[in-house]
Amino acid sequence: MSDKKVNIFWFRRDLRLDDNVGFYKALNGKLPVLPVFIFDSEILEQLPKDDARVTFIHDSLQIMRKKLQESCASSIAIYHGKPLEVFKQITKDFDVQNTITNHDYEPYALKRDQEIESFLSEKNIGFYAYKDQVIFEKDEVVKEDGKPYLVYTPYMKKWKARFKEHSFKVYETETFLKNCIEHSRLPNLSLSDIKFERSKIKVLDYDLSKSTIKEYEKTRNFPAKDETSRLSPHLRFGTVGIRQVVQKAISEKNETFWNELIWREFFMQILWHFPETQSRAFKKKYDRIEWCNDEADFEKWKTGTTGYPLVDAGMRQLNETGWMHNRVRMLVGSFLCKHLLIDWRWGETYFAEKLLDYEMSSNVGNWQWVAGCGVDAAPYFRIFNPTTQIEKFDKEKTYIKKWVPEFESASYPQEMVNHKEARERALSTYKDALS
Ligand code: FAD
Repeated sequence: MSDKKVNIFWFRRDLRLDDNVGFYKALNGKLPVLPVFIFDSEILEQLPKDDARVTFIHDSLQIMRKKLQESCASSIAIYHGKPLEVFKQITKDFDVQNTITNHDYEPYALKRDQEIESFLSEKNIGFYAYKDQVIFEKDEVVKEDGKPYLVYTPYMKKWKARFKEHSFKVYETETFLKNCIEHSRLPNLSLSDIKFERSKIKVLDYDLSKSTIKEYEKTRNFPAKDETSRLSPHLRFGTVGIRQVVQKAISEKNETFWNELIWREFFMQILWHFPETQSRAFKKKYDRIEWCNDEADFEKWKTGTTGYPLVDAGMRQLNETGWMHNRVRMLVGSFLCKHLLIDWRWGETYFAEKLLDYEMSSNVGNWQWVAGCGVDAAPYFRIFNPTTQIEKFDKEKTYIKKWVPEFESASYPQEMVNHKEARERALSTYKDALS
């Protein structure tokens, strides 16, 4: 064991050196900081071997390692295994006094952190976690009676009122990086060391330029324009800090863009207060719906061969790039639950496998929204018409032609269901379940 006392900073979904609350706190402590990342084998085992998110995490860590090597002769120790086993090893190798990290609110992460905290406390090692990935967490924005908001608009208003009451700073860590442990030989892992391959799918850079934010309302509904911020995977893995993003939204005075960032926190607090909604409808009656769950239909939806071009374009964009425009996510979700009467959980699981920005709270929240069974959800009788949606959002069919090149040719499939019949079937099935 190294005889030098250290504090650990454990990176998880906060893969950046700057504006990182926990890292900032660790660097301002009394001991040198050993930066650590663990590729959790329990999570990796469930993923395809060329998962694009694993490539992104790997590459982001290498960039951070390089920066630390150049700026302070330090690095990040990267491990692979079950976090508890890894902590057993680290505490043998180093004289650890405290472990510092940022909060992670998903049910699996909460359980994992409890386990690590109790292991460390047996060894008299402190465990401290900070709020980093959101502006407001847990029950910081609740109703006067202390209960969580179930409707977005009053939540958003209270969120903004609280925001005005507080001063939020961006945590500048750059000047404190020298407080990292000086150690050039910390363990590193390549993708093949963790038995993964490089994915062909890349996370695109985000765009927070003045014009993107200023024009947001004008462009955000048109998938062919593709001019939204592309922040979602970066917020998911923490390659950008939320405080910087909110500051930008405010400085460009774009309420609509700001409100979207608040939707993210709205769904996060819903999952925090109601963790059971990860697999059950928030509105319990909706769990009585008799889904058809036809495997062949599901396959057509997944492969983008439903015969409804905007649905197919969206699914193909997802399969090829790991991303889909929000407008189209709503349509494909509605089509699956209403036109095909397939359980929203099937769609949620497929998105979880494919989306670069997969976030349990946003994914579950939005899927329950389209299925009608969530908090503040679309009423069940609101069924998107997949043909008129084209008129509204892809009139020139630019987006469709990009992703479905055989559209309008003889090889393009017939519509798999008749819209009118499917709509009526959905309405009567939902009605039966809810009556
Ligand atoms: P922008 O339009 O530029 O918005 C900026 C940011 O606001 C986004 O990055 C995101 O953090 C937040 N945001 C925007 N819309 C929403 C929303 N409806 N709900 C929550 N946050 C929002 N988003 C995810 O991050 N992860 C998911 O797993 C996810 N699953 C979804 C599933 C369905 C069925 C639907 C309809 C939407 C889902 N969304 C999810 C929300 C939304 O589609 C994406 O956040 C958005 O398309 C990401 O693109 P952007 O970063 O360019 O967004």
